[in-house]
Amino acid sequence: MNMITNHMPTAELQAIDAAHHMHPFTDGAELAAKGARIITRAKGVMLTDSEGEEILDGMAGLWCVNIGYGREEMAEVAARQMRELPFYNTFFQTSHVPAIALAQRIAELAPGDLNHVFFASGGSDANDTNLRLVRHYWAAKGKPSKTVVISRKNAYHGSTMAGASLGGMGGMHAQGGLPIPGIVHINQPHWYAEGGEMSPEEFGLARARELEAKIAELGEDNVAAFIAEPIQGAGGVIIPPETYWPEIQRICDAHEILLIADEVICGFGRTGNWFGSQTLGIRPHIMTVAKGLSSGYVPIGASIVWDEVADTVARAGDFNHGYTYSGHPVSCAVALENLRIIEEEQLIENVATGTGPYLKEKWEQLADHPLVGEAHTRGFMGTLALTPDKARRAPFEAAEGTVGLICRGHCFKGNLVMRHVGDRMIIAPPLIFQKSDVDLLIERAVKALDLTLAEIKDKGLYK
Ligand code: PLP
Repeated sequence: MNMITNHMPTAELQAIDAAHHMHPFTDGAELAAKGARIITRAKGVMLTDSEGEEILDGMAGLWCVNIGYGREEMAEVAARQMRELPFYNTFFQTSHVPAIALAQRIAELAPGDLNHVFFASGGSDANDTNLRLVRHYWAAKGKPSKTVVISRKNAYHGSTMAGASLGGMGGMHAQGGLPIPGIVHINQPHWYAEGGEMSPEEFGLARARELEAKIAELGEDNVAAFIAEPIQGAGGVIIPPETYWPEIQRICDAHEILLIADEVICGFGRTGNWFGSQTLGIRPHIMTVAKGLSSGYVPIGASIVWDEVADTVARAGDFNHGYTYSGHPVSCAVALENLRIIEEEQLIENVATGTGPYLKEKWEQLADHPLVGEAHTRGFMGTLALTPDKARRAPFEAAEGTVGLICRGHCFKGNLVMRHVGDRMIIAPPLIFQKSDVDLLIERAVKALDLTLAEIKDKGLYK
């Protein structure tokens, strides 16, 4: 077997990659034809590829590298922990210092009575935990019929069977016979695309009240929980109207429904608070976290659980659930160091009052571009809608998603990572972004939008 290194020619690496590596969310035939872009190293907010190109990372990896790349402290903590205790499990009455310390720190940071932490390896399996946890909780409370979880169309809650079922992505449900039973979906609060003639405020209320209607239809005694991202991320950074979350909160409180906030993207600073629930005024009973918990340096996720749920479950005997890597010592130690960096370097302040307002000002000016229907940010999450007709908020009906893909291609060629969801472009930069990084991002984004407009005019997609 030959040794694979960063110094091999790109084409060779691409060929081996396509021959042996099955990529997530990727068209394998297209990958084989075009070859992956191979990232060899990263520092701060910049990636370097195998051709030596420097790419500005507008997506913090996959919404996760909150503290930026190349932090020596993280590597040192990982190495120290690997030498001292590389692994031990937390099953059957055993524990270790990194898991104890991280659980305590998360409980300190989490709002309200969310004082208990069940560790997972990422966000998907943390949501699997949540599904079992809420059903087990209601059974322990003597209400075993409360099993159904209500979620939303176009939500993203992961790729495991439960995670993808809780999610509301049609393309995912179409593969593998999803959703699994006991999970139902209501509409999302996506005013720009679905609000029609309603004001955002009216629309937010109307969409929230679909939850109450669904609870009535199913019967309150059959519903365990409602799960939602404070701001939908993978669905296209859908920032809900102001009226939405207060009404959802009222409905959950009124009908004894547990509220699960999936904070996998919003958690750990991205919205300008430790948690998105704080930014949007939500009081969840459970929060799912992952990504920013370790800034992606090591895999880790968790469910942060309300005292009442955790105490009830504790009194009910064994919770027959757990992952080999629940509370992995290296992941916990690295996550703890990450939280120290976020706090000491005031990265959340950078989002809330430092670079965040500047990003907002510059990003929202993109709405003046002829191709852009709306452009908004909340903290360090940004979204813009591409449209052939601003006044009507019209989609590209004939070829939905094509224009976004073209734009993403121009961004990537222009050394900017900006993701597309259909014909929306989204960003979620590292929380260390400075004003000069924003300027570079906007300069490259405008160039990509101009090139996209020229290309789609040529192709007859824009009149
Ligand atoms: N929940 C949300 C809101 C996410 O955005 C993601 C991943 O993007 C997940 C869950 C799944 O997390 P993971 O990919 O770590 O399993």
